[in-house]
Amino acid sequence: MSLLRFLAERPLPALDGRCVYADGVQPLPLRAPLRGARSAQACVVGAGIAGLCAALELASQGQQVTLLEARRIGSGASGRNGGQALADYACGIEALERRLGPAAALRAWQLAELAVQRLRQRIADHAIDCEWACGTLSVARTPRDAARLHAALRHRQLHYGAAQLRWLEAPQVRRHVESPLYHGGVYDPHGGQLQPLLYTLGLARAALRRGVELHEQSQVLRIERSADGYLVHCADGSLRAPRLLLAAGAVPGAPLRRLRARVLPVATCMLATEPLTRPVLHGDPPPAVCDTCVIPDYYRQDAAGRLLFGSGAYHGGRVLRDPALRRQRLRQAMLRVFPQLQHARITHDWGGWIDASANLAPDFGRVGPGAVYVQGFSGHGLALSGLAGELAAQALLAGPAGCADFELFAALRHASLPGRGLLRRPLAALGEILGRLQQLL
Ligand SMILES: Cc1cc2nc3c(=O)[nH]c(=O)nc-3n(C[C@H](O)[C@H](O)[C@H](O)COP(=O)(O)OP(=O)(O)OC[C@H]3O[C@@H](n4cnc5c(N)ncnc54)[C@H](O)[C@@H]3O)c2cc1C
Repeated sequence: MSLLRFLAERPLPALDGRCVYADGVQPLPLRAPLRGARSAQACVVGAGIAGLCAALELASQGQQVTLLEARRIGSGASGRNGGQALADYACGIEALERRLGPAAALRAWQLAELAVQRLRQRIADHAIDCEWACGTLSVARTPRDAARLHAALRHRQLHYGAAQLRWLEAPQVRRHVESPLYHGGVYDPHGGQLQPLLYTLGLARAALRRGVELHEQSQVLRIERSADGYLVHCADGSLRAPRLLLAAGAVPGAPLRRLRARVLPVATCMLATEPLTRPVLHGDPPPAVCDTCVIPDYYRQDAAGRLLFGSGAYHGGRVLRDPALRRQRLRQAMLRVFPQLQHARITHDWGGWIDASANLAPDFGRVGPGAVYVQGFSGHGLALSGLAGELAAQALLAGPAGCADFELFAALRHASLPGRGLLRRPLAALGEILGRLQQLL
């Protein structure tokens, strides 16, 4: 086997680690795997936020829905992320403007805001107790980044009516973030933070109440077209459905190879400190913070006063195989921002996989009549994946007429990474190195 093929085909390590969100949270009783030959009006693959919101939407439109999950509910990115609900895209609205034109970009911006509003509405509708708090802060690590961030803010205010966004000079940022590192920032009162596992499990409970049939430990291994729709195969059973929605995130991988080729699984890792005796984030409430680097640091204080700090975007290399090295790198990243936490005890660390598309824009589309997919949230999916699930469900129900907002994203062109997967890992590793160099320059 060539070195290239070896690098490309190594299985992805499980980065589960010990995730702080699971502490003290009542898990749902295991839903039995799919067994025998079954049927439904709609099949959803993947019980992350996208799949759960899609199932909820389909069920509320009277569909009999079966949701198949390879592992446990929320075991993907949805149950272990940074908890920051951002009303923006990983690629930035400017990239969508270049690709879609100003009118469609304006709608895309409204949809990013709607994604956060819908998230809050779901929390209220289903009475999900998940520690929601308003306010996010984007911060710039260099004067050049601060100038870019400020220009982007002006652009959003002028062309997208984003009057709620506020520029903070370095001393104002320091009032929120006790760190000498930043040169300015943008505060968004519409964004916010939550405990993602509680939110995801809350969605699952709501879906069960709406009559969604949910099977865990039911990895979809193969999908066949049939006269009346699709036949979806798991290890011990199969499901026949005229409508199919794929929302399989980054790992263990979408069941269709051509979809897998369009996203690169990129790892990002987090740690939790013990509750801080002296908080490092301030405000009422303290904002969730993310910097503007290619490989960003993102952090927030949770309801118990712990600092939850995420950093790094790794695709390969020793750091993925070595939990101790991962912990050490994360701690170094945290201390670079907050040197005063030298003696803070780290109680948890974990990781997860992000489904990064080549251009970091969301990737929605169709894989056949009555079959749609959503993926490519590129690390910005906490709010957006929920809206994506709803739009995908609406697109399925609308039939050939389609759903205008779903089609807006489906119209985006996406590259498959070259080499049918062969070059994907080395290319991503190169991207990671370039990203790191950019930070140093
Ligand atoms: C550590 C980390 C931090 C993050 N921080 C943030 C943040 O602060 N803000 C933000 O906006 N985004 C963040 N993200 C990204 C965000 O979590 C995701 O974009 C979002 O959760 C994606 O949801 P999803 O439903 O598409 O995918 P997932 O949550 O990954 O769900 C997909 C599900 O599909 C299942 N599945 C896969 N293949 C199959 C199959 N063949 N058969 C059956 N089931 C299958 C998986 O097991 C999984 O449960 C972060 C991600 C990570 C990993």
